[in-house]
Amino acid sequence: MSDLATHLSQLRGLLDRIPDGGLPNLIGGQDVPAVGGGRFETRSPVDDSLICEVALGEAADIDAAAKAAKAAFPGWAAVSGAERKKILHRIADAIVARADEIALCECWDTGQAYRFMSKAALRGAENFRYFADMAPSARDGQALPSPHHLNVTSRSPIGPVGVITPWNTPFMLSTWKIAPALAAGCTVVHKPAEFSPWTARLLAEICRDAGLPDGVLNLVNGFGEGAGRALTEHPDIRAIAFVGESKTGSAIMRQGAETLKRVHFELGGKNPVIVFEDADLDRALNAAVFMIYSLNGERCTSSSRLLVQESIADAFEEKLAARARAVRVGHPLDPATEVGPLIHKTHFDKVTGYFDVARAEGARVAAGGARVGETGWFVAPTLFTGATPDMRIAQEEIFGPVLTVLRFRDEAEALEIANGVAYGLTGYVWTNDLTRALRVSDALEAGMIWVNSENVRHLPTPFGGVKASGIGRDGGDWSFEFYMEQKNVAFALGAHKIPKLGA
Ligand code: NAD
Repeated sequence: MSDLATHLSQLRGLLDRIPDGGLPNLIGGQDVPAVGGGRFETRSPVDDSLICEVALGEAADIDAAAKAAKAAFPGWAAVSGAERKKILHRIADAIVARADEIALCECWDTGQAYRFMSKAALRGAENFRYFADMAPSARDGQALPSPHHLNVTSRSPIGPVGVITPWNTPFMLSTWKIAPALAAGCTVVHKPAEFSPWTARLLAEICRDAGLPDGVLNLVNGFGEGAGRALTEHPDIRAIAFVGESKTGSAIMRQGAETLKRVHFELGGKNPVIVFEDADLDRALNAAVFMIYSLNGERCTSSSRLLVQESIADAFEEKLAARARAVRVGHPLDPATEVGPLIHKTHFDKVTGYFDVARAEGARVAAGGARVGETGWFVAPTLFTGATPDMRIAQEEIFGPVLTVLRFRDEAEALEIANGVAYGLTGYVWTNDLTRALRVSDALEAGMIWVNSENVRHLPTPFGGVKASGIGRDGGDWSFEFYMEQKNVAFALGAHKIPKLGA
């Protein structure tokens, strides 16, 4: 049975299993405390209660983890693709077997609702399966004959890599980065977000128990300025796969410059959903509501700006406000809950700060705009109307269940508003006019666009953003391009003419 009482009792069992010393780091296959002996706390956003203490990794811990990853690299890179495939499938099997446990821990640690996290854990397993199946062909290249040479390309894993992840759906996102790195033959040092360390620990445990050799996946907990920075600066780490805020991406690029790090950035967004008057408005409404209020709106691909054509705006806004008010805010472990508490007080302060910004800027708070309850970091699903494109609520990533509506007259104005932000991650277009859909999706500045659809992920397609939303793509072979080096070998086909200097 799946209800709040059952989940709470299961959660108590999981909390009891956390070791007395809290969550350790995992380096070279060993559970270890931080070198400096430090710890930090992780607390539940539901009631701010202590979940456990966590090893506070710093530069010395990163150094140990990077050395373990470097030592394990030649062995792991030499493991056949077929064998890597088997191990990665075993990891996927173990994720499925522990999916409910992962979901419960994630809900309690991050405030995400169970209805979404139970699926996110399974998506983590799918990520492993998808890249497991690609492992045997990861090294494949091309034959490129030229007049006198046969050029043969091949790929090899780049080396030990650093993976730095954020706190929103942290388990799924970590698998999205770690699975292709392992499939490619790289070894990994993972630095998860300080706000959500619990499921990163579960993933490291699962990988170890599934037979991943020691040192292939290392976990170092800690803060961005400590462990995160040290990872980006470490000379043994060849590349950094980072998911997080755009300004952190800039910092990582600076920090990694000295050691010429290859970087892959999945950053912020202020994604438009554009609703034209000829669209299927019921479906557009469902999709818009889902894409901003699911996952607490703490979602890089959330449609946080709704651009609606003037002719239908009044009625559409009214329906939106009614739906926003009806979204069920509650305990994240309650299967009926649609929006749980925000991750942390810091983030709660940021999101609720925008309620004041909206009022000061002259927008109307058509739904929400307030805290829910006295305990925990709950906020009401919020809708701002009467906004203009230059307002901060229309430009800045709020990263909560907060939607800003902007009205447009025609296609040209819709595009001007949609593209008039620093970001360019996703866009959503609702119209039944095929040629307009083609024109608008072509002109939108975004890495991913869905037409008449919410975000439905297909793993072989490229995932990533343009402008301040990122550098590089994940998914399919794009992931391997990041985690692997290309090599070209040219074989002379005969006695072609060689210039004779000094002859
Ligand atoms: P954040 O940038 O604050 O932190 C992300 C990670 O970076 C954490 O592990 C943090 O400890 C680390 N970090 C912070 N400073 C660092 C530094 N100087 N050097 C190295 N590491 C450092 O992001 P967040 O608040 O945890 O996550 C929310 C952000 O992530 C939002 O902007 C969201 O849009 C973005 N995000 C993007 C995608 C995407 O695919 N584009 C997906 C999920 C989240």
